[in-house]
Amino acid sequence: MAERIVPAGGTKGSTRIVPPGGTIGIVGGGQLGRMTALAAARLGYRCHVFCPEPANPTSLVAAAATVAAYDDQPALEAFASAVDVVTFEFENLPRPSFDVLERLVPVRPRPAVLETSQDREQEKFLVVGQGIATAPFAVVRTADDVEPALARVGVPAVLKTARLGYDGKGQAMVRTPGEALEAFARLGGVRCVVERFVDFACEVSVIVARGLDGAIAPYDTVENRHKHHILATTTAPARIGAASAREAQAIARRLAEALDLVGLLAVEMFVARDGRVLVNELAPRPHNSAHWTIEACVTSQFEQFVRAVCGLPLGDPSRRFDAVMTNLIGHDVDAWPALIAEPGAHLHLYGKTETRPGRKMGHVTRLYPRT
Ligand code: AMP
Repeated sequence: MAERIVPAGGTKGSTRIVPPGGTIGIVGGGQLGRMTALAAARLGYRCHVFCPEPANPTSLVAAAATVAAYDDQPALEAFASAVDVVTFEFENLPRPSFDVLERLVPVRPRPAVLETSQDREQEKFLVVGQGIATAPFAVVRTADDVEPALARVGVPAVLKTARLGYDGKGQAMVRTPGEALEAFARLGGVRCVVERFVDFACEVSVIVARGLDGAIAPYDTVENRHKHHILATTTAPARIGAASAREAQAIARRLAEALDLVGLLAVEMFVARDGRVLVNELAPRPHNSAHWTIEACVTSQFEQFVRAVCGLPLGDPSRRFDAVMTNLIGHDVDAWPALIAEPGAHLHLYGKTETRPGRKMGHVTRLYPRT
C-alpha cells in the first residue's frame, strides 16, 4: 500500500493525491464497483470492497473484501485503516457510517454530496437553488399536506418517497386528486416529494467528472429509454437539438461545482416537447447511462472516476464513436451466446450467479461511426 500521510487536522477536505500502487476503498459491491475495480487495476491500483453480501460482483475482481453490514462501526474502522481513499458505488449509507470513515481517511465525493443525493427533497432544493428547472414539485410530510401539495403541482403527478427510492421503487402515479391519499398510504406515509408528470420528448443524462483541482470534464449528452422504470438503452449522442444538449451540459457542470464534487455526477433530465431541460435526479457515482464510454470514449467513466477520487488529472472524455448501450435485464442475459458471436458487439457480464427479473445482469455496447 502507498505510504499514508495523514495531514494535521484530520483527513477532512484533504487534497492528498493517491498515486498508483495505493488502495481504493469501494463501498458497495455491485457492477459499478466491479467495473471501477477493473479500471483501477489497469492504472496499478488495488481495490478493497465493503459490502454486506458475501457473493458480490465487485469482490470477484477486487484485491480485498470486507463483508459486513453498512452500519458495522468496527468493520468500517478496519476498512478505513486499510485503504488510502474511500468512494461509493452505493450511496444509501447511514450518516454515522460516513462519520467513522471520514475521521480516518479521505472520502470522495465528500459525505455531504452523498447525503444530498440520498434525499429527493434536498436534491430538488439544490437544483432550484442554482436556478435550474425541475418539474413543478411540492414536499409532503404528513397526510394533511397531500391535498394542498397536489393542488399546487397538478395532475397527473408522481409521488416519490424522499429517501431510499431507485429504479421506480418508492413511486406511485397519481392520475386524479382522489388517488393521492391512498398512494401516500401505500408508500408508507413517509416524507415524499410529489411532482408533476412530465410529458417529455425524451430523457437524457450527462455524466460529468470533477477533479480534486476543480477541473471539469463532461461526457456528451446521451438519450435514455426506460422499460418498467429501469434503464433499457442509452444512445450516444442524444438525438435532440444542439441548444438542449448544450443546456444539459451546462446544468451538469453547474451542479458539480455547486456540490464541490470530487468524482462523478450523473444528472438525469427530461427534455420537454418545447426543448426545455428539466432535472429529474442526481447520482454522485458512475452511472448505467455512461457504460457506453468504456468503448466509445477516449477515457471511460470508470477510469475517470478512479482518476478523480485519487486526485490524478482527469482524462479526455471525447466521444470517438457513436454508441448504443443495451442493458441485459433478467433473462435477457440468456442471449449471451448470440451476443458474444456478434461481430463488433461489446459484451459485459457482471458475474451475478442468480438471474432475477429486473436484475441488471450485463450490458452490450454497439459502436457506429461518429456523427
Ligand atoms: P426516478 O427514480 O425519479 O429516476 O424515476 C424513474 C423513471 O420514472 C424516470 O426515468 C422516468 O422515466 C419516470 N419518471 C419519474 N418521474 C417522472 C415525472 N415527473 N414525469 C414523467 N416521468 C417520470
